[in-house]
Amino acid sequence: MTPKASTPKTSTPKAVTASGMGLSGTTPQHGPAEPPLRLPSFDNRANLRQQVAETLRSLLITGQMRPGQVYSAPKLAAEFGVSATPVREAMLDLVSEGLVEVVRNKGFRVTELDDHELDAIAELRGFVEIPVMGLVAEQCSGPVAAAVQELRPLARRITKAAATNDLVTYTEVDNEFHTRFLALHGNAHVVSVIRDLRHRSRLYGLEALVEAGVLAQLSEEHEQMVDAALARDGDTMRRLMTQHIGHIRSTWAGRSATSSRVPGPGSG
Ligand SMILES: [Zn+2]
Repeated sequence: MTPKASTPKTSTPKAVTASGMGLSGTTPQHGPAEPPLRLPSFDNRANLRQQVAETLRSLLITGQMRPGQVYSAPKLAAEFGVSATPVREAMLDLVSEGLVEVVRNKGFRVTELDDHELDAIAELRGFVEIPVMGLVAEQCSGPVAAAVQELRPLARRITKAAATNDLVTYTEVDNEFHTRFLALHGNAHVVSVIRDLRHRSRLYGLEALVEAGVLAQLSEEHEQMVDAALARDGDTMRRLMTQHIGHIRSTWAGRSATSSRVPGPGSG
């Protein structure tokens, strides 16, 4: 279980932060023209498709690529400074993840998740993540406890990323933290399902979350999860996970901060 494998460090677009929101006009269907993308350099040609896919994923997660908007592979390729083929291939990876859909002769549209869909994903994540994390806590001894200790630096990186509004790093490390934690239960299918749901429920409007100051609060729960596991306290872990998933929908989805009825999805 190595979430790292899908997030090569070389592709991390460092310039993509809350302050750098906004995509250039890559054939938008609607909405005003936006400033140009700030992009990483793609230096490892062998993994170009993977690097481009990872960058596109980051742009989607941080909301720089907007739902409903159509992007053409050749124009994105020009901005990335690569040929259209790896961009097209990367986009097809994202199609299979449900993040974008093909628009014939035009490119790829960023899919929109409606409230019902977000709720459904949130419900499923809660069904799986809350009890599994509780079990990890209850079974936390020996090598599992040692592995949990190794997650503490990740929890601190998440907090640091939140403090600096580095949303791409936040999202990447948060994904790694949660999937590695869940993996300690020893069921690879759980990890695979949750990773897929996290990809599908990538949210936008993170600036609102940052502005609301919720990100810092959310980020601090990760180290509390490490403490709960090391204390073998399943009840506290389940409470933390319920809270963690529940925080999210209203804020991470850029929706009303006061209307959350159900636990929400996202990279919480
Ligand atoms: Zn989290």
